[in-house]
Amino acid sequence: MLDLRTISAVLFDMDGVIYRGEQPLPAVNELLGFLEQHGIVYACITNNAGRTPTQVADKLQRMGLAIPADHIVTSAMATNLYLRSIAPSGTRVHAIGMEGLLEQLYDDGYFLPDQDAPEFVVVGIDFELTYAKLRAACLAIRSGATFIGTNPDRTYPAEDGIVPGAGSILAALSAATDRESTIIGKPAPAMFQAALALLQAEAATTLMVGDRYDTDILGGANAGLQTAMVLTGVSDRAEAETGQQAPGAIYDDLSALLLAWRHAIAEA
Ligand SMILES: [Mg+2]
Repeated sequence: MLDLRTISAVLFDMDGVIYRGEQPLPAVNELLGFLEQHGIVYACITNNAGRTPTQVADKLQRMGLAIPADHIVTSAMATNLYLRSIAPSGTRVHAIGMEGLLEQLYDDGYFLPDQDAPEFVVVGIDFELTYAKLRAACLAIRSGATFIGTNPDRTYPAEDGIVPGAGSILAALSAATDRESTIIGKPAPAMFQAALALLQAEAATTLMVGDRYDTDILGGANAGLQTAMVLTGVSDRAEAETGQQAPGAIYDDLSALLLAWRHAIAEA
């Protein structure tokens, strides 16, 4: 059972939690104001490695959600932190990806871009994927480079339907190399650990709020976080209640979470 009085940090999944499609969900700004008022830190986490935090914040701003870029954690940022924890400065890295990933990997100069003899091949969503890019990554992985995937999502919803995500590009490279990638994004623990590090928060007193049982809730619980599921997105109550590990709490939406939090603090 979740005790909201013990929570000092919150991680929010985005799609299905704070917005849906292009529409903000109710009570987001009120909840964030409540958290700030009570000294509870928060971040929004996304498996999408294609966008930079600034691009994500701009999208939120257009929906009327005032969440600054430094409160956004992408799987590209988590990939950078993970690689830094296992590889020294000057390590050669080849990437397939977009601005959100390339900025995180190369802008600070810690890693060196190298297509010919990299020690790591990092692969994320790339709207300009070509055979030549797959070929270069395949050859590098076959030559011994460690294969890293920013996130496992095989598809994602676009305006005109369900389209290939980073996981589909990883699947193509796995088929070509007989190798599986190390995954960074949810539900892998690296994503949650990166967000905790950036918030300087402890897992046991951090609440993961998500709409997807198999990624947000199971992944968060496996990383040692408290969990709360909202029913404004993908998973329904039955999926959460019959799963291998029930969420700490289930709320209809963020309004219900805010109400419960106000009550918990008033009773304390
Ligand atoms: Mg979601």
